[in-house]
This record gives sequence, structure tokens and C-alpha cells, in this order.
Amino acid sequence: MKLSLVAPCYNEEANIKLFFDAVKTAFDGKVTDYEIVFVNDGSKDGTYKELKKLYDENKKDNNIQVLTFSRNFGKESAMYAGLSNAKGDYVCIIDADLQQRPEVVLAMLDKINSDEDIDCVAAYQENRKESKAMSGIKSGFYKFINKIADVDFVNGASDFRLMKRSMVEAILDMSEYHRFSKGIFSWVGFNTAYIPYTVEEREFGETKWTVGKLFKYAIDGIISFSTFPLKLATAIGITTSIISVLYLIFVVLQKLIAGIDVPGYATIVVLVLFLGGMQLFCLGILGEYLSKIYVQVKNRPIYILKEHLGKDDED
Ligand code: UDP
Ligand code: MG
Repeated sequence: MKLSLVAPCYNEEANIKLFFDAVKTAFDGKVTDYEIVFVNDGSKDGTYKELKKLYDENKKDNNIQVLTFSRNFGKESAMYAGLSNAKGDYVCIIDADLQQRPEVVLAMLDKINSDEDIDCVAAYQENRKESKAMSGIKSGFYKFINKIADVDFVNGASDFRLMKRSMVEAILDMSEYHRFSKGIFSWVGFNTAYIPYTVEEREFGETKWTVGKLFKYAIDGIISFSTFPLKLATAIGITTSIISVLYLIFVVLQKLIAGIDVPGYATIVVLVLFLGGMQLFCLGILGEYLSKIYVQVKNRPIYILKEHLGKDDED
């Protein structure tokens, strides 16, 4: 098996068949030895039915695997499951919603074959089809996280990438529960080349991202790859202590030299509220890390498989 396409699917019933046909058309005569690993991430619509139909129709070609989760575990888990079961020497992660065209995979293959040194080819969005405000927030986030994290995050680079087997194995070795792929891809190292691509409009179904989910994902990314927030708490503590000592000296001198007896009601209220707020903020940061540790030490599986069509021993 040469190439595996890993396609996470969550409520994509209208896209499955189109996706499969698009791959077939794009690869026709150019890539012959390939498989598609569909990961049905607890879809609530007819995605499973579509996948099962596709699998039955193509069983003889032995080029489709369908992994079905017991519930929705999220795209990160779906990618992990897909990578774990992909058999190819090259593995490409691609969305099943046709926003990422299979033709780009051909360009990735060309690129990776053009230079032995390249282990991974990632596609980045040339033009983002989103509001200026959203683009601004995203690029601000990348600037911030690149400053504080130990790995490099590339703005605009998605999970859409082709990897050699050695890199896939390295990613699978990272079995952390809270997965933030953008960080993981970078953390494992390997030589990555970037090619631009244009994201297509979604024709069917809708994006699973909401502002709330994006925000949570951003926080996950920071906590998974940086201890900066913990250090921030220390820095805030030290700074407020120094300021309060300076203020103490100021008040004592004011009393001794100018003889002013400050009533200080407002000062006290402000300080109490400010320090209380800061303490809660720092506790919150600790809590974020603690909750991640808590979930990790429980050592729960990243996903639970309900069914696996096209598994090796079935063939
Ligand atoms: N997806 C998934 N599990 C989820 C959410 C999304 O497997 O919980 C899949 C989805 O079916 C699609 C891909 O991940 O193939 C990208 O999702 P989406 O299109 O919502 O993201 P966007 O393209 O808007 O970034
Ligand atoms: Mg999409």
C-alpha cells in the first residue's frame, strides 16, 4: 500500500460519495495504490449508511476502511484513529467535506517525491475565506502562541498534510489525551515543506466550528504547548508584592513628612478587589493545568471504536 487518505467525518452524509468520486477522478491514472480510511466520528445523520454502502460497493478493491466511533470524540481523536489504522507508506489527512481538493494531494506527492529530505508536505491557506476580524484574531493568536510556546505554529497551515511513515509513527507515539495537532506536527520535528492551496466553499452540511469551540481550542493549544501562563502567575505575584511595599513606604513617608492622614477607603476597596481578582485569575490558570493533568492521569482512551470495516484480518 502506497498512500492512505485519512478522512474524518462528522455528519457528512451528503459529502461521502462526492468525496470518494472526487478522489477517484483526481487519482485516475496517477495514483493507483491507495486506500481511504474514513473515520465516522459518531455522526448523527446518515453518514454511517453512506460509508457502509460505499464500503460494500468497493469491497473487492480492498481500498476502503471505515472506523466508526461509539460517539463523537472530535476531529483530533478521529485523526489519531485514522493514522493508527492507515497502512500506507505515505499518509495524508484530508477533510471529507470537499473543502480540501484531492488534486492538492497530487501536488503534495510531487513535492515530497521531488526531494528525499522532505518528510511532510503541509498545505496552507493562501486566501482565507473569512472576515477580516476573524483573520486578525487568528493571526494575533499565532503571534502570541509562537512567543510563549516551545514549538512553532504556522498561521494558515491546517491538518491537511501528507506525511511519510516515520513521521506518522512519531505522532502516534504521542498518545496524550488533549491533542492539539498543530503543535504535535511541529513538536515531532521532521522536515516540512509548505504548499499554498485554496479552501473550497462547503457545498453540503456545515462547519462544526463555533466561536466558543475555537476559543476552547486556542486555550487547549496554549496549555498543551506552553507553561507561560503558570509563570505569568508568579510574575503577577512578585510585581504586586513589590508595588505594595513601595506604596507602604510612600504612605509612611506621607504621614511622617506631610502629616497627611489618608482616609484611604477607596484605596482599600480597589486593592482588595484587584488582589482578589488576581488571585482568582491565577487559581484559574492553575485549575486549567490541573484539570488537564486530572483527565490525562485517568488514562482514558482517545477514542472508542464501535466497528471497523476493512480491518486487515477480515480481508
Ligand atoms: N470533524 C470530525 N469530528 C468533529 C468535527 C469535525 O471528524 O467533531 C470532521 C468534519 O467532518 C470534516 C473535518 O473534520 O471532515 C473538518 O471539519 P469542519 O469542516 O467542520 O471544519 P472547517 O473546515 O470548517 O475548519
Ligand atoms: Mg470543512
